[in-house]
Amino acid sequence: MRILVTGGAGFLGSHLCKRLLERGDEVICLDNLFTGRRRNIVPFLNNPNFEFLRHDVVDSFKAEVDHIYNLACPASPVHYQHNPIKTVKTSVMGAINCLGLAKRINARVFQASTSEVYGDPVVHPQTEDYRGNVNPIGPRSCYDEGKRCAETLFFDYHRQNGVDVRVVRIFNTYGPQMLADDGRVVSNFIVQALRGEDITVYGEGSQTRSFCFVDDLINGFLKMMEIEGFTGPVNLGNPAEFTILELAEHVIRLTGSSSKVIHEVLPQDDPLQRQPDISLAREKLGWEPQVGLEEGLQRTINYFKSEIS
Ligand code: NAD
Ligand code: UDP
Repeated sequence: MRILVTGGAGFLGSHLCKRLLERGDEVICLDNLFTGRRRNIVPFLNNPNFEFLRHDVVDSFKAEVDHIYNLACPASPVHYQHNPIKTVKTSVMGAINCLGLAKRINARVFQASTSEVYGDPVVHPQTEDYRGNVNPIGPRSCYDEGKRCAETLFFDYHRQNGVDVRVVRIFNTYGPQMLADDGRVVSNFIVQALRGEDITVYGEGSQTRSFCFVDDLINGFLKMMEIEGFTGPVNLGNPAEFTILELAEHVIRLTGSSSKVIHEVLPQDDPLQRQPDISLAREKLGWEPQVGLEEGLQRTINYFKSEIS
């Protein structure tokens, strides 16, 4: 198959490109390298089945492909809040451009949506029918509302034009290939611990997240794209829930670091709790994560050890 991956030079995108190339697909990776980097795709550049296009999803593009995975969008709060207007444009216009292309060439199109569509959830764990608790005008809104609007577009193109869509809502995912300065919690804590710096817990650290290892998530992507007659949206994440303070303690223990936890101000609208209900993914895709937090952290720590030494 010929497959277009937008955001293919990023954290998740580079793992996805690798898996697609390994199974023999031809991959076009489209990325503007805002948070992605050439290094993530260097191993593929000599592969005749791989092509890199430096391009912005906000501007239209053409390709003859069977499948489109739309991953282009900064995912770390630090990066998506850097230029919030651009984040909205990336989500909304990127979705329109992918869907318009999918419609013209009759391709199946996948959207990397997010648990952020649930905002600061009052239903716990989050099921797909929960409509969320999102602040439309806060610092996270550019991402949350951009992704919500992208979902709207996916389902409107599906209903109005019969476009073959797949929408997954991704919960916090981590692993090798994250940037050391990505700003998200797992990479921050590991890099701080390895450098012997203070571990920056925002607020009391009692807020929760559920962390999925990247290999598990990519398995879910591939299953979702293969299955017939199921558009989603479907939650993909690891339901094991931890407080941020517990995460800090795990990282300190596994790295054997002498770093100390310090507390910094909790960012505005930071969700208090987050845990996916993955019953739908289990039922429809036969999918569930296999890698626990301890094993996944160890693999990520090993990656960062070679990365920052
Ligand atoms: P990432 O920041 O590593 O990757 C995003 C990629 O998109 C980067 O390569 C970046 O350069 C590219 N990009 C950004 N804006 C672009 C634009 N305008 N045009 C072209 N390329 C652009 O983040 P990630 O963790 O790999 O996330 C990938 C996707 O998955 C994102 O859409 C994100 O919202 C979604 N997601 C990720 C998580 C997670 O925990 N990793 C959770 C929920 C949703
Ligand atoms: N966080 C933290 N210290 C950091 C980075 C993040 O305590 O150095 C917290 C953050 O406030 C949030 C959680 O960790 O409660 C997850 O943050 P992240 O940016 O990884 O993703 P989010 O799920 O908030 O989008």
